[in-house]
Amino acid sequence: MTVALCPICRKSEADPKYRPFCSRRCSDVDLQRWFAGSYVIPGEADEGSDEEPQND
Ligand SMILES: [Zn+2]
Repeated sequence: MTVALCPICRKSEADPKYRPFCSRRCSDVDLQRWFAGSYVIPGEADEGSDEEPQND
């Protein structure tokens, strides 16, 4: 069998509990990377830039 290494630190073996990561810490790191990479969402407007009613 091949030993699955953690894709984050590539040092420790993946823990079945946190597969494919070795720990929750590495799992969180991956999650944060994922969020960071997809944080920019096209079409997402700035908050508070809604059309404001104009007083004539
Ligand atoms: Zn790890």
